[in-house]
Amino acid sequence: MHIALVAHDAKKDEIVNFAIAYETLFKPHELYATGTTGKRIAEVTSLQIHRFQSGPLGGDQQIGALIAENQLDLLIFLRDPLMAQPHEPDIIALLRLCDVHQVPVATNLATAEMLIRGLWRGDLNWRKLLD
Ligand code: PGA
Repeated sequence: MHIALVAHDAKKDEIVNFAIAYETLFKPHELYATGTTGKRIAEVTSLQIHRFQSGPLGGDQQIGALIAENQLDLLIFLRDPLMAQPHEPDIIALLRLCDVHQVPVATNLATAEMLIRGLWRGDLNWRKLLD
């Protein structure tokens, strides 16, 4: 599976702790992240992560490009719901592409947990279910 991880600054600690908690589960998968999120996770885990630009510098759009190319299976995007982001249009575009291409996306930890449990059970082959 190809999985992308993104977190706004107020959510960085959450995604780092999430990556630590599920490190073993993430290990065999192809991981992508926006710049700072990927750096933070790489500092405290042994996960190999392909790091894109930082979100405000185009990282969200790079992940969107993966989705447009059907190369992403799951997005965990912990958004800060309390702070306006300078790259809001990119964020909306990224979430829109998930809807266009039926990519499961979690924007908070509760949903991220559910998706990860599905991944663990091996029943997240959504595209086959939808075809
Ligand atoms: P970052 O980007 O991981 O480089 O901080 C995330 C974002 O703000 O979209």
